[in-house]
Amino acid sequence: MTTATTTAEKCFVTHLESAIDGTHLPAHTLQTTHEGRPLWVRYDLDAIGQAVSRDDLRNRPATMWRYRELLPYQAINDIVSLGEVMTPVIACPQLAHGIGGTGEVFIKDESHLPTGSFKSRGMAMAITMAKALGVTRIALPTAGNAGGAAAAYATRARIECFVFMPADTPIVNRYEAALFGAKSYLVNGLISDCGRIVQHGKESMRWFDLSTLKEPYRIEGKKTMGLELAEQFDWKLPDAILYPTGGGTGLIGMWKAFKELQALGWLESDTMPRMYACQSNGCAPIVNAFDVGERFAEPPDNPHTIASGLRVPKAVGDFMILDAVRESGGAAIAADENEIVPAMRQAASSEGLSICPETAACIAALQKLHESGAIKPHDRVVIFNTGAMQKYVEAMTIDLPAVDHERLTSADPQQLKSILEFETQI
Ligand SMILES: *Cc1c(COP(=O)(O)O)cnc(C)c1O
Repeated sequence: MTTATTTAEKCFVTHLESAIDGTHLPAHTLQTTHEGRPLWVRYDLDAIGQAVSRDDLRNRPATMWRYRELLPYQAINDIVSLGEVMTPVIACPQLAHGIGGTGEVFIKDESHLPTGSFKSRGMAMAITMAKALGVTRIALPTAGNAGGAAAAYATRARIECFVFMPADTPIVNRYEAALFGAKSYLVNGLISDCGRIVQHGKESMRWFDLSTLKEPYRIEGKKTMGLELAEQFDWKLPDAILYPTGGGTGLIGMWKAFKELQALGWLESDTMPRMYACQSNGCAPIVNAFDVGERFAEPPDNPHTIASGLRVPKAVGDFMILDAVRESGGAAIAADENEIVPAMRQAASSEGLSICPETAACIAALQKLHESGAIKPHDRVVIFNTGAMQKYVEAMTIDLPAVDHERLTSADPQQLKSILEFETQI
């Protein structure tokens, strides 16, 4: 284990700061929340600006760790990693056309990351920090992908991992956490019920609570989505970003990244992207709060959506999401639940991309934003594809009309003719 002094010496973190009331807390020691609300990691940005420039990044490996000065841990030989590659930004003209826009729509495809979702960014960072700070046992509630990612990184770090998920979590998520070596449990209820088990059990079970935003470092890992996007767009940020919002860590982290880059003077323009928090109308607490001008969100009755990552009725960082969305001039917007699966299939079949249902909600929301004029035809839009379609067998196959592949036994002319006549209806 790296000693605290080497970590401190090489690290630009100055302190942690309560997001709810600004209280300062010391870094380099295990911290959770303050007044039950999340903590920001703060850096000496002047010192970072002197230590590293945009050009220095070019020759570094194409992973999230290339931004190490802007991360809480710099001992690069001691990180817990499964290869967190920079993810591609892919132009999607067919998708843009289908939505009726004339501008550019890009998908930043996070499905390339270890365990098939962007949860790896947060977990690589949080578990690196947990290990450095001496944690030996973690627990977390999950709506799906967080459990698998936590299990994989914990196993690599030789940390014991306990995962709690709703019984209706997608089947791939149910298996992967256990296969990656976690003690994995199903719970009758919602993710908030799973969270309560972790909360109430943590003292007697000696768990460190790795729930979204209950420790300060998952945000910092997810922040690298924003850093990467800026670098990939030559430090000229797009006009609008659509992000599928559950607990909101990714949106909060990206907004923090843009602020830090602005303070460093690395951005080419002062215009920040408008941030759109996308949800499903089956579970849209952030949208409801946005619409009525509130800073804190109320849990909806009977939350349900096929986009399991968006099944988060109560986010501890609700005010951080809503502050970022409002400050950016964006909005929170709900897709119609019934549009999610068709949008997923349409995007996958028109662009060949592995789109998760959460991102499909963004695609359906983009259509609405176009129709309302909130997104202009010429805007450059980036949608985050937060996970791989293949993790959602249920959504892939729901209501699928007899897509039975023609079974061929030979290349006889009659059979080949039947292939031409057969059309897969999705
Ligand atoms: C967790 C998750 C989300 C929601 O992410 P937050 O940053 O917690 O809002 C969206 N999509 C997928 C695929 C997820 O796994």
